[in-house]
Amino acid sequence: MDLLSVSEARERILKHFTPVDFQEVPLEIASGRILAEDIIAGVDLPPFSNSSMDGFAVRSADIALASAETPVELSVVMDIPAGSNPVQSITAGQAARIMTGALIPTGADCIVPVENTDRASQTSTALGNSLRIMRSALPGEFIRPQGQDLPKGQLVLSRGRHLEPQDIGLLATLGIGSVRVSRLPRVAILSSGDEIVPVDAPLAPGKIRDSNSYMIASLVVQSGGEVQRMGVAHDNLESIRSLLDQAAAQAVDLIITTAGVSVGTFDFVRRAVEQNGRLEFWKVNMRPGKPVTFGFYKGIHFVGLPGNPVSAYVGFEVFVRPALGRLAGLANLDHPVTRVVLGETVESDGRETYLRASLKQENGQLVAYLPSHQGSGNLNSLVLANALLILPSGVKSLAIGAGADAWLLGNC
Ligand code: AMP
Ligand code: MG
Repeated sequence: MDLLSVSEARERILKHFTPVDFQEVPLEIASGRILAEDIIAGVDLPPFSNSSMDGFAVRSADIALASAETPVELSVVMDIPAGSNPVQSITAGQAARIMTGALIPTGADCIVPVENTDRASQTSTALGNSLRIMRSALPGEFIRPQGQDLPKGQLVLSRGRHLEPQDIGLLATLGIGSVRVSRLPRVAILSSGDEIVPVDAPLAPGKIRDSNSYMIASLVVQSGGEVQRMGVAHDNLESIRSLLDQAAAQAVDLIITTAGVSVGTFDFVRRAVEQNGRLEFWKVNMRPGKPVTFGFYKGIHFVGLPGNPVSAYVGFEVFVRPALGRLAGLANLDHPVTRVVLGETVESDGRETYLRASLKQENGQLVAYLPSHQGSGNLNSLVLANALLILPSGVKSLAIGAGADAWLLGNC
């Protein structure tokens, strides 16, 4: 049987995930969450026409002939600090002193910045009775019209959007103090293997420390999920089943295990899942990460990632991040792809391949190198990389200078 392709496997996983329910959260904690409603502007932004400069609100017709040689004198009738509501209109021959952000008085149709008046070098803050304007201005100059940024009634943010800090600012501007977002997907994580000990345990011969559960937990949090750490299962059916049962009892949305899913004599995870659920598939045509498993344990989504840390990482990025995105109702599940140029020839075995690459900016383009050993147990090589370089399935070699897709790792 042909091995499942990455895209088929991704589809077969994603079709089983549907968005979790929503909750209302205050703006202060909404950043990074996935919006579960459409947001429509209830007001114009800006809500009123206002000055974009400190200066004077005047009628442009009055100062049409103003210049340094022939200044126009106007009488100053009002002071409009930011936040005030001018009660008076500007009529012919009149000006109002106005601050940035202050409401434009009726009658005025432009702002003359203070630099274009005889007040430019004045240190006094007194309003004075008159001023001289040294330059003409067009109607609308230095006025930010009501609704310029956003008209009332417009769709501002769509359901499924990852809320960014600028979105939070806009919501606040619109007077929206709380929003509906998806609740955080809950994910149980467990490691497996008789050789695996926790981070604070001494290392005996033959043992290694558990890096996977810490790394995967941090990936889950980064992808907007909540983590239940279940610990390390031993390489026997009872131990694995007992931790899977504890995970299922937490009513999580997804259980992730690492290791124990290949074909080794002590790989019991697959068997444990099959006893209390079902497996959809257990191999994908990719490198690293071929022994990726997907199924259900007691009705809960289950993903078994490979034990080698780099394989687990790649498996997470390819399959689990989009699945968590779907759970959270995220609209766009695709990784942003960056086009790069190969700085050296790269080879693989025809499986869809994710190589640890170092991208360097050279002559205006991003050039990819593979400086480290690509062994899938070598976590430091992933730390040294700043991108995953993708070789499509069927490609065994790409020559220096060829183009390729890459996912940035966020440490460029
Ligand atoms: P397995 O899938 O059980 O054959 O494991 C494959 C490789 O991954 C072995 O070298 C394991 O020691 C290693 N490995 C398994 N689990 C972990 C873990 N939690 N942290 C680091 N390495 C692991
Ligand atoms: Mg093992």
